[in-house]
Amino acid sequence: MDDCLFCKIIKGEIPSTKVYENDYVYAFMDIAPQAPFHAVFVPKMHIGSPAEINAENSIYVAKIFEAISEVAKSENLEKGFRVVANCGEDGGQTVGHLHFHLLARRYLQWPPG
Ligand code: AMP
Ligand code: ZN
Repeated sequence: MDDCLFCKIIKGEIPSTKVYENDYVYAFMDIAPQAPFHAVFVPKMHIGSPAEINAENSIYVAKIFEAISEVAKSENLEKGFRVVANCGEDGGQTVGHLHFHLLARRYLQWPPG
């Protein structure tokens, strides 16, 4: 999508600090980190939100979770981490391209509030 911030990051039109990339997934450090380690994992295909995941595109979600597992190992997050996907207005989604936050290296309160 021409107008999408994360599509522009994937294409390199907006700079990012890459943490992982393969044919399906791009991951980069969040610009406003909510934990000492905070990366964002996005599908390389534009999917608007978790509400748009379906049988045709869910391979991207599986690939993202494989990538999260790999990064958790390479970043030594053995103490734990949280994966968050915000959806829509009430879910606090601010960028309209499906993404999964990977938060770690501090105790993460539950419920988050
Ligand atoms: P959400 O609020 O769940 O839609 O998450 C969007 C995330 O994208 C937020 O945590 C932002 O800090 C992050 N973000 C926005 N712009 C950038 C950028 N240019 N580079 C890295 N992260 C960004
Ligand atoms: Zn997009």
